[in-house]
Amino acid sequence: MCKKRIVVLGGGESGFGSAVLAKVKGFDVFLSDFGKISERYKNKLVEWDIEFEENGHTEEKILNSHEIIKSPGIPDTAAIVRSAKSKGIPVISEIEFAGRYSQAKTICITGSNGKTTTTTLIYNILTNAGYNVGLAGNIGISYAYQVATADKDWYVIELSSFQLDGMYDYRVDIAVLLNITPDHLDRYDYDMKNYIASKFRILRNQTLEDALIYCYDDKFISESITKYETQAKLLPFSVKNRSVSGILSNGNIIIRVCNKEFIINRENIKLAGLHNVYNVMASGLAASIAGVDSGVIIDTVYTFNGVEHRLEKVGEKNGVLYINDSKATNVDSVWYALEGMDRPVIWIAGGTDKGNDYEPLAELAKNKVKTLICMGVDNTKLLKYFDGLIPEIISTDSICNAVITASSLAKSGDVVLLSPACASFDLFKNYEDRGNQFKEQVNKL
Ligand code: ADP
Repeated sequence: MCKKRIVVLGGGESGFGSAVLAKVKGFDVFLSDFGKISERYKNKLVEWDIEFEENGHTEEKILNSHEIIKSPGIPDTAAIVRSAKSKGIPVISEIEFAGRYSQAKTICITGSNGKTTTTTLIYNILTNAGYNVGLAGNIGISYAYQVATADKDWYVIELSSFQLDGMYDYRVDIAVLLNITPDHLDRYDYDMKNYIASKFRILRNQTLEDALIYCYDDKFISESITKYETQAKLLPFSVKNRSVSGILSNGNIIIRVCNKEFIINRENIKLAGLHNVYNVMASGLAASIAGVDSGVIIDTVYTFNGVEHRLEKVGEKNGVLYINDSKATNVDSVWYALEGMDRPVIWIAGGTDKGNDYEPLAELAKNKVKTLICMGVDNTKLLKYFDGLIPEIISTDSICNAVITASSLAKSGDVVLLSPACASFDLFKNYEDRGNQFKEQVNKL
């Protein structure tokens, strides 16, 4: 009997891992990338004896497959995906595929912001508790590769809406829905309803034995949750409501699960900002449901320093604090950054606009920002919106100029905050490159 054929689209971490798992499971595997595949993954594909192509898709080799695994970066509107769907070939995500071959328990985290921070914190808690656990999804080594080569008992998985879109039968044991704010609307026909529906796919197939942890204060989540009939145990968290599972009371975070409760003292958390109170609540609830002792949860939360490029303190020069929040690529994450600032702010923002509406930032910008330094190829939109709201606005087109300008204007006691609200692709390779270049420039001062 001839082998079933699996085609993987995309030759990055997710695609490579899927191809390896398909190979290990005995499929006839072919990987195709419309662009260039990095040397690193090409060498690995050769090592695993996996046939691949790059710089284009050969339809005859793709549309003869039984199933296609699509990497999250490829939109549904790509011609090859459309052709496959019109021929009735199932197109799934790496998570859907890998989930078929692992019995491990999963904690899956989604939301518009805070995924990486929360996923990393939960993973650290489970690791400190001695669990045999893998970190996967949008971070680190792919889920599929780990399932193929060294399956674990538990996985903590960061899920973007693009991964969720290709999930059908996958069942999440502990789901975390952090927040929903406008982002990536270009991939959802500019319709918020479609984006919300994508996030809610996380609770498909959940049963009575599963849990859904979600933010009660989030408008889109609380409006939508009643429309989804789920059997999962619901664990809402909130900083405003006292009758939920994760609450804020007198500056303390209280986590209540199954008649037990424990307290996380906010003052002892190294992560700054209200958004991180939410992230800690979600993490505490998820780890508790997973059976971790409250002592381990508390110790891990108190020692967690956060993840690079997220409100990362770079250093203090002449009394001026420099903060790298390069990962703030949308308006909501900047809102939380500005909200958490307790010194006069020199704010560096700009880059590739994703259809931003800056209105939610107006009040905070007016009250907290003394200078806005725009940093992008085209700064028109920022300049126009904040004109009259912020006393001083300067346009630059490089990180070097932006940092030098900021340092020359800053007075002791100020903070220089890089929190762009935009993607980085106009001037940088990605947000990490932007954050690293910012840190380099600050260190040169
Ligand atoms: P994601 O993986 O969802 O992009 P990150 O943890 O990488 O989230 O954080 C991205 C940006 O969002 C950072 O600027 C961070 O400070 C901010 N952020 C983190 N958690 C939250 C949250 N719960 N709500 C809003 N913004 C957040």
